[in-house]
Order: sequence, then structure tokens, then C-alpha cells
Amino acid sequence: GPEYVRAIAPYQAGKPIAEVAREFGLDEASIVKLASNENPFGVPESSKQAMAAAVADLGRYPDANGFELKAALSKRYDVPADWITLGNGSNDILEIAAHAFVQGGQSVVYSQYSFAVYALATQGVGARAIVVPAKAYGHDLDAMAAAICDDTRLVFIANPNNPTGTFIGAGEIEAFLQRVPAHVIVVLDEAYNEFLAPEQQFESADWVRKYPNLMVSRTFSKAYGLAGLRVGFAIAQPALTDLMNRIRQPFNVNSLAQAAAIAALNDKDFLEQGAKNNAAGYQQFVEAFDQLGLEYVPSYGNFVLVRVGDDDQAGARVNLALLRQGVIVRPVGNYGLPQWLRISIGLPQENAIFLAALKKALA
Ligand code: PMP
Repeated sequence: GPEYVRAIAPYQAGKPIAEVAREFGLDEASIVKLASNENPFGVPESSKQAMAAAVADLGRYPDANGFELKAALSKRYDVPADWITLGNGSNDILEIAAHAFVQGGQSVVYSQYSFAVYALATQGVGARAIVVPAKAYGHDLDAMAAAICDDTRLVFIANPNNPTGTFIGAGEIEAFLQRVPAHVIVVLDEAYNEFLAPEQQFESADWVRKYPNLMVSRTFSKAYGLAGLRVGFAIAQPALTDLMNRIRQPFNVNSLAQAAAIAALNDKDFLEQGAKNNAAGYQQFVEAFDQLGLEYVPSYGNFVLVRVGDDDQAGARVNLALLRQGVIVRPVGNYGLPQWLRISIGLPQENAIFLAALKKALA
């Protein structure tokens, strides 16, 4: 295979419950998984019903263009349907963008401590990564703008960012967009947007009208509770979506996923319940971290990055101690954060089990 493919470090996903149960001799039902920023309420009932109805059609291919789902998204975000690209999760969107806009030898700019798939998408097309040092664990947009070169084609920004949970306000993002040269496409990855408080929300999809080089990416995996189905989408002007459409797989979003996503999109109660639980769970975590004297990065997502020790084995050590107690969280050594763990916010009881296990692990 090509050298640039050999150089890729594979994505490290959260450990599956079944694997942890077997490895540590635990009962699957007793395991708490707070590792993948999933929705602790699971699949919305409305989506389950929509999927049940869609099963009868599984003998047919999915709608290759996602007509109904795009119509629903078009209405929600007030953009024409041909400004929308559907993805097999938003990971697919990120990868399609790299394939559509970048070729080997060109460069892609993203931040240190930002989402792991930016590196994979960049390396996967044989492009050069320009990784800009983080500022307070988040994006340093001034430095990122300065890092853009003639051969840069793409910038990835995660807002809120994973794994650190940092957030950049509308003013700063727009100032950045104004500085970015026209030959550079900005993918604004808003996977965790729905967890922001109403006063932090801004209509980034509206900016797509103003900035022809902007693509906003969203997902149904987090707030909408459909991670297992793999549905994401991007909003951008048709000049960009047209290229995305040429390179994507024809049936990249399956029928059940399309049906479930439409239902979830219209399920305001589910979103509201999730946002409330998330805000309460965040308080539960940070109060406990304060009591334990643990440093954490203030988070705007559905997870918190917490520093569990001073040495570079701390993350791995505490992670193992948690696994032995049946709690799965995410070590982030692969992000260059070996002293830290990333914990997804769960239901109150799950959070409590994690916190009790953490106390033991640190004792
Ligand atoms: N972007 C960010 C910032 C993420 O954290 C994630 C999920 N880990 C994704 C995109 C991709 O999620 P999905 O493919 O499930 O939409």
C-alpha cells in the first residue's frame, strides 16, 4: 500500500461492553459505558416507530438522494435541499470533504487536540497535515489563519471540540471566516451543537449563504441518539455539495437511518430531555472533580476531559482501574493527553457509579 496509508494510526473507538465483560469477568448488565459521547437515553421512541414502519421496504435500496430527510433538513435549516449532503455519520462527511477538495501534496489545517478523524481524512488522501498548537486546550483561530498556505485546501474546526469540550463564540468564528482565503474550504464540525445553551447557539447554517467556502457539519449520533445508525449531514453552497455528491457512495445512508433521522429531527421532547440531563450531569461531574481536586476543561459538549494524575501513565492506569470496576471511559493518550480521561455524561445513576469508581481508582 501507499506510504501515506501505512503512516495512519487507526481510529481508537470506545471499548465495547461485551469485550470488557469478557476480559474482566463482569456481567454485561453491570457495565457502565461513558466512552463514546453517546446519548444515555438511547434511541428516541419516535425513531423506533419510524424504523419499524420502514422495515417492510428493506428489500429495496435506500433513497440514494435522501429526498425526505433532505426535505426535513431543508425546512429546519432554511436552505435548499441541494445545499445538503447526507453522510454515513458525520465521519463520512469529513472523509468525503477530504476526497472532494484535497489531493496528495496539498495541505489541511486543523488544531492540536481536535477530533481524530481530521488526521485520518487528511492522511487518507495523501495530504499534508498542518497541526496548529492549541490554546487553552481549544482552537487558536489566529494561529490557524496564519498557518494557512498556498497549498492549503481545507480547514477542520470542531465547535464544540472533541475531546476537550472547548467552544468558540460566533464573533470569533466569523472573524476567522473573513480571514480565510477563497481557495480554502472551512468545515465547521458542529457534532455537539445541540448541547449548547440557547444563548450560546448561533445560526451557523446562515453563514453558509454568506461564505461560499464554508461547510457546516452536523450529526444524529449525539443529541438525537442515533449513533448506531450512522447519519450525519453537511450544509454548504451547491458548488461544494455538487463535488461532495460526485465522490460519496451512492447509498451511503441506509433506509432505517433515513426514517429514524426524520422522526428524531421532529422530536423536540427528546432533545429537551437530553439537554436537561446533560446540564445536570455536567454539574454532577464538575462538583465531584472540584471535591477531588481534579483539573478539568470546562466543557460545552456531552463529555468532560479530566486530568487524573501528573505522570504520563495516569490516564492508562486510572482507565484500567475503572475497567476492572466495570466502567468504560475514554483514554486520550492517542490525542497527546496521557494524563487525562474523557468521560461522557450519562444518566445520573451512571454518573454516580463512575464517580464512585473514580474515587476508588484514585485512592
Ligand atoms: N465530529 C466530532 C467532533 C465528533 O466528536 C464525532 C464523534 N466522535 C464526529 C464528528 C463523528 O460522529 P458521527 O460519525 O457519529 O456523526
